[in-house]
Amino acid sequence: MALLIVTDDCSDCDACIKPCPNDAISVCDDLYVIDRLRCTECVGHFDDPQCLEVCPSECIIADPDFMETAKELQVKYESLHA
Ligand code: SF4
Repeated sequence: MALLIVTDDCSDCDACIKPCPNDAISVCDDLYVIDRLRCTECVGHFDDPQCLEVCPSECIIADPDFMETAKELQVKYESLHA
């Protein structure tokens, strides 16, 4: 699955953008968003999602509307970094 930022809890601290290896996090209309088509849950780069590691507000959760298997995340990683 991709991850999702719960915007009501987000403190706009900016900590999550740089650690993302897929450039999946951006700011749009003052809201931080994760591009579900780029988020691999850090599969292919790290053992754990880096944005979760750095988020002080614990406002990043799994996107229940975009479930993906580990294999699908690996394929997405390979597609992004071909
Ligand atoms: Fe980026 Fe990894 Fe967070 Fe997905 S889990 S948004 S790839 S840092």
